[in-house]
Amino acid sequence: MEADNNEKSLNFIEQIIDKDLLEGKNGSRVHTRFPPEPNGYLHIGHAKSICLNFGLGIKYGGKTNLRFDDTNPTKEEDEYVNSIIEDVKWLGFQWDGDICYTSNYFQQLYDWAVQLIKEGKAYVDDQSAEEISAQRGTPQKPGVESPFRNRPLEENLDLFERMRRGEFANGEKVLRAKVDMASPNMQMRDPVMYRILHASHHRTGDKWCIYPMYDYAHGQSDYIEQITHSICTLEFENHRPLYDWFLDQIATGDRPQQIEFARLNINYTVMSKRKLLELVEGNYVSGWDDPRMPTISGLRRRGYTPESIRNFTDRIGIAKRDNVIEYSLLEFLLREHLNKITKRVMAVLNPLKLTITNYPEGEFEEVELVNNPEDENSASRKLPFGRNIYIEQADFMLNASRKYYRLSVGREVRLKGAYIIKCNDYVADENGEITELLCTYDPETKSGSGISRRVKATLHWVNAEKCIDAEVRLYDRLFTDEDPAGHKEIDFKEFINPDSLKILSNCKLEPSLAEAKAEDKFQFQRLGYFCVDKDSSKEKLVFNRTVSLKDSWAKRK
Ligand code: ATP
Ligand code: MG
Repeated sequence: MEADNNEKSLNFIEQIIDKDLLEGKNGSRVHTRFPPEPNGYLHIGHAKSICLNFGLGIKYGGKTNLRFDDTNPTKEEDEYVNSIIEDVKWLGFQWDGDICYTSNYFQQLYDWAVQLIKEGKAYVDDQSAEEISAQRGTPQKPGVESPFRNRPLEENLDLFERMRRGEFANGEKVLRAKVDMASPNMQMRDPVMYRILHASHHRTGDKWCIYPMYDYAHGQSDYIEQITHSICTLEFENHRPLYDWFLDQIATGDRPQQIEFARLNINYTVMSKRKLLELVEGNYVSGWDDPRMPTISGLRRRGYTPESIRNFTDRIGIAKRDNVIEYSLLEFLLREHLNKITKRVMAVLNPLKLTITNYPEGEFEEVELVNNPEDENSASRKLPFGRNIYIEQADFMLNASRKYYRLSVGREVRLKGAYIIKCNDYVADENGEITELLCTYDPETKSGSGISRRVKATLHWVNAEKCIDAEVRLYDRLFTDEDPAGHKEIDFKEFINPDSLKILSNCKLEPSLAEAKAEDKFQFQRLGYFCVDKDSSKEKLVFNRTVSLKDSWAKRK
């Protein structure tokens, strides 16, 4: 499955760019942009767009802008701006020059709108949004022209200026492009260019009370920034004629070209900012960066690496048709990366006391373990071993069948990196719960001594006196349904997995983990990949399970 980047055939966007370069279009420049609206945190779908746009910039020795498409003051916040900047950097990309904002172009956009009015290509409409919408017609039926469509030019100029000055209330008037009410493309039926919104903007404050609509602002912003290839998702395909129409009116010289590709969809999740916001505001999750969220900050907190996400977006390719990618592919590529880079450590999540009765009390020795057997040059570290040990509760069974290879009374196993032990007896409390195992060790069988016997299992363990305490949060998928948002009659929140978070508060870790810092990643032997959560402190260590060692969902389907 390993694919070399250079050997892959070109995707359709690269083919377009190659052709443009060959023809010397745009002075043979490549300049892309990533244009998020700062109305939420970025998700894995945005990562796809980021990797695509920045990736093309890098591949062609061109440039990529980060542009905030901030034309809706009521939904946008600086918190979102900051998180987006952070996420793009974390993914490993650097934009060209300063960060761009559509709001930087409000004056220019306004001036162009005035120009359009003067040329008889835009008019002020006094009708309500409902009336305008009712006149739009259907794809089969042409729209109805507004009674204000043929307003005298001077009147339009005067009204638009007064809209800007704040003389009218929200919704009282709009500026519309005069295109074609009979066009078979609904987008061309005199689309709204400006609306009145008396709201403070996160950057321009109260300077403006009219705001440009996406379709008008986007292409013009691309043009101002001298973008060559404006890549967006398929839902904008039928907006392309309008994108071009606006540019036809204002552009001289090089102009951007809109190219659409299929948005990334992944099963078992939702990927619209509106739905993600609903999860945050309804406290279904702890925040935008909850480790169960498909947001970039959530994936990061969960323990994902930027490499695994970049590799994922690369592996799935660029499509022209909508499709759904398996969540398990993302997890597969994550495991592949974590397997290479993480240190193997011992952690017991559900501890069971084990006493080695023939090991002297108060004495300890050190055993040596390799940090990462996948790495030839891996260092090793020393672990304290002694009389009192913790093993996993699931690694002991009282009435074990022949197929159960782990510990039971009368059976032998190896403690990883240490000795072969035999279980002789156990202690139970008044409820019959097993509280302690009584074992003996064979001093001859220390790992590396060359003396061994065949045992059927090797267990992980920690020294009970020298281990450290931690809380471990076991995360699972947030939704139980493959397509939670795909049911017309049922709200997507109905499919939230009630077992998506399980907190284990009595976990025991090997002492080397005491110094671990937020986002440090490890493989807990036999259990999976884990990382330190941002809630972790010296007083209370907190780990997240990033992903189990195997795909546990494959079986469930
Ligand atoms: P959402 O629908 O999730 O709210 P959006 O499209 O409104 O997202 P924007 O901030 O406008 O979010 O998107 C910024 C860029 O990211 C756009 O170019 C958009 O096409 C792209 N993008 C958004 N979602 C996806 C996705 N699932 N796959 C690929 N690209 C995406
Ligand atoms: Mg959008």
